[in-house]
Amino acid sequence: MSYLVDYHMHTTFSDGKDTYPAYLEKARKKDLAEIGFTDHITLAPVDWCVKEIDYPVMKENLKNLCADFSEDVQVRFGLEVDYFPNKEKELKEIIAQFPVDYVIGSVHFIGNWNYDTDKSLYGKWSNNELYKMYFELIQQAAKSQLFDVIGHFDLIKKFQCWPESDQTHLYEETLKVLKEADVVMELNTSGIDRPCGEFFPNKQILELAAKIGIPITLGSDAHKPEQVARHFETAIELLKSVGYSKITRFRNRQRGEIII
Ligand SMILES: [Zn+2]
Ligand SMILES: [Zn+2]
Repeated sequence: MSYLVDYHMHTTFSDGKDTYPAYLEKARKKDLAEIGFTDHITLAPVDWCVKEIDYPVMKENLKNLCADFSEDVQVRFGLEVDYFPNKEKELKEIIAQFPVDYVIGSVHFIGNWNYDTDKSLYGKWSNNELYKMYFELIQQAAKSQLFDVIGHFDLIKKFQCWPESDQTHLYEETLKVLKEADVVMELNTSGIDRPCGEFFPNKQILELAAKIGIPITLGSDAHKPEQVARHFETAIELLKSVGYSKITRFRNRQRGEIII
């Protein structure tokens, strides 16, 4: 797998369990070509993001790692940034502080509700209504032009929150917005280890995305080194089976391609 990238992982700068060298060591063992560190940046008052006071030291450390070409695994400067409607200006200013190779835009909040850590509001709306609210935010995130990648496209299903009826139209509509906004979608392999038990996004959505022609990249969402490149063989098989023949790589917010 020496050609592959893992573009989504978290260190102790946010909610990950280890530091840069441990992930790099694992990436070397997995024979990856590139890894990207994407610690959480969020405007919400939570304890799982990079603290503003730590921005300069994270920036310095990661910049140095990216500049080190002595390694066989190359490091990319990524961020996973929470999208909040009407906060585009603030988000843009934060992102501009970092010499990023790419930025993943994620929706972890519906209003003030951090639905992927707090289960308390499930059941307040029908799941169909929740999907509508969630994918509306994903569409706005894509349109914001703040992000290179949309993270875990259907994370709303994490705790087995399944829609009451078929949502193909909603997926299709959202994917078309991604296409129009020229945003890359992530195949996030962590979903298999979550209660939902399937990739973010699932096969049906990947099939639609391949048909619409949305570029794809790959991330494990590792929160500890042993999760680096998890389920990547299955992921590559799945991507090929729905018609993908390449994935996207990034450097300095410019795209490249890797044939799979
Ligand atoms: Zn996330
Ligand atoms: Zn993440």
